[in-house]
Amino acid sequence: MCIFCKIVKGEIPNQTVLEDEDFLAFNDINPARKVHVLVIPKEHYDSFDVIPPKLMAKMTEFIHKVVSKLNIKEDGYRLITNIGEHGGQEVAHLHFHILAGEYVGRLVG
Ligand code: 5GP
Ligand code: ZN
Repeated sequence: MCIFCKIVKGEIPNQTVLEDEDFLAFNDINPARKVHVLVIPKEHYDSFDVIPPKLMAKMTEFIHKVVSKLNIKEDGYRLITNIGEHGGQEVAHLHFHILAGEYVGRLVG
């Protein structure tokens, strides 16, 4: 089972930002910015390439809710998903990075 599926199952702890029946948003373990949240579907899809469009539409709505909760809309933010080896994807479970605020560590992208 992949590492993010283990997070969904509660086998690996996480700092949850927002959750509903289909999606989970949690803090990245190695943040690049003051705000660095990962958003995942609870069901495993390898990447953006293979998530069904209807579920992606729901995920878009969920991401907007996370952004509202984080209160980052006014100053702006980055929304990134890496796809495959050349996209720099390390965890093969679809996730969107939400990045905002000051740089605190490594660079993303
Ligand atoms: P990718 O390079 O696949 O787009 O990004 C994977 C992200 O997952 C990285 O930013 C990394 O810090 C984060 N990550 C990897 N393992 C864990 C974990 O066990 N918990 C959390 N919260 N984040 C993780
Ligand atoms: Zn998974």
